[in-house]
Amino acid sequence: MVKRRKRFILIIGIIIVSIIVLISIRKTTHNQQNTEHVRTSSTTANPKPSVAKGTYSPHLKLHNNSYRRHLRAARSAGIEVIKSNSDINKYVRNGKLFAVRDGEGYKVQKLTHSRAVLNAKSLKMLHTIGKQFYADTDGKAFFTVTSMTRTMASQQKLTKHNVNAIRGISTHCFGASFDISYMRFNGIKEWNDPLKVKLQLILAKLQKEKKIFVVREKRSACYHITAR
Ligand SMILES: [Zn+2]
Repeated sequence: MVKRRKRFILIIGIIIVSIIVLISIRKTTHNQQNTEHVRTSSTTANPKPSVAKGTYSPHLKLHNNSYRRHLRAARSAGIEVIKSNSDINKYVRNGKLFAVRDGEGYKVQKLTHSRAVLNAKSLKMLHTIGKQFYADTDGKAFFTVTSMTRTMASQQKLTKHNVNAIRGISTHCFGASFDISYMRFNGIKEWNDPLKVKLQLILAKLQKEKKIFVVREKRSACYHITAR
């Protein structure tokens, strides 16, 4: 009788221990699976562009804004007409003009009649356009910035052989405008309609949202853009 009782207690004991061991094994495996899952999602996730692909209305069209409007926006940005290179240097020191380097979705061409500086508003806008272009082309393309801030002197030189540069004052002389080529994508000078259309849609959307003024400069095959 005593023997039977002992055996019974032993069996119950074994069962309890087995249950405990089973539970702890399951817990460990579950935790491992979770860690694995977290690890997988953090290492294999694609590096997403910080801007989502744009959605564009089929009615969206880019149109030319009058130069008067560009000028008004440029004058209101807090920089006087830039006469010389030393003016540019002064504005850079004062934190009113900022150096522009290649960024996501765009590259700055070697500039001959302007300097790669812009006011804060226009620089931010260039970043915005570049990031959107990067997102809309799945990070596979970039556009070219062909002109930025000019001094009155360089503007005058330019008007001699560029009928497109408006005689007299230009919004480039306020550090407020930049030109984007619509004939040079990925550094190649040739017609590229799909990329041109992508750029146009981005600009048209920003124009509709009242964030930029745009005018097409046919002669230099670029869009002249002033942030509002
Ligand atoms: Zn221009």
